[in-house]
Amino acid sequence: MPLVNGYKVLHALKDRQLIGGAFNATNLETTLGILEAIEKSGIPGFIQMTPSHLAFTDFDYLADIVRRYSKNMKTPVALHLDHGRNFDDVKMAIDAGFTSVMLDGSELDFEENIRVTKDSADYARLFDIPLEAELGAISGRVDAVSLEEAFHTDAYQVREFVERSGCSSLAVSVGNVHGLNDKAELDFALLEQIHQESPVPLVIHGASGLEDEEINRMSYHGVSKINIASDLRKEYIKTIGEIYKNNPQSYAITETAIAATESVKNITYHKLMRMNGLGG
Ligand SMILES: [Zn+2]
Repeated sequence: MPLVNGYKVLHALKDRQLIGGAFNATNLETTLGILEAIEKSGIPGFIQMTPSHLAFTDFDYLADIVRRYSKNMKTPVALHLDHGRNFDDVKMAIDAGFTSVMLDGSELDFEENIRVTKDSADYARLFDIPLEAELGAISGRVDAVSLEEAFHTDAYQVREFVERSGCSSLAVSVGNVHGLNDKAELDFALLEQIHQESPVPLVIHGASGLEDEEINRMSYHGVSKINIASDLRKEYIKTIGEIYKNNPQSYAITETAIAATESVKNITYHKLMRMNGLGG
């Protein structure tokens, strides 16, 4: 099955009552590892990248790899822009063939967040591509949003935000944190309150470091998409580091790339299965 529209993945997850992973890719090895894991799991999912990736290559490079590989996949996968900063990021990703996008206006005030989200959502709609928005900043980002209560999503703003912005899914802040440095303290009561208010599926960022059972529990509170990046990156770097440590004289780059791909595939597959309460 070729690369599919993000709506198709969201609907398939809902129909099968599954929670979908959204895994961040950076290079050939991480991209292949993630796609192999999604294929093996049979669970529709997302492969994604952030605009910070642009310091390395254009979006088109990874989009090409994803398109090529996914032609032979049986499990539906969507290519998603993670944390688009502005309209230009969203447009660039759609032009590159992404099938799902995010506009993160969570650090703006409520009205401004609605305005920028709506601009991008209107554009994405022209291509029938779903747009994820964010309400309530998630801590642990590079620009150091702190762990303050004030950043949690306000459940009472959710319905108005979704209806006025036209977003297709909503990333929320309920104690989840980006990265592996801060400990997440999930507020399930708040998550449920948000679920009751939200007309669209919810997304949880910063799921690295969370227990698989906690992630699985979220599927009962309207969460369809879980973002995982740090765990995979760490595994990738660790694998290459160990190979070097064990044999500093080695220059077997193909074997190293294969081992790194395999390590990303394994952690992605296990996370996907366990967060859905399946063995693996
Ligand atoms: Zn995120």
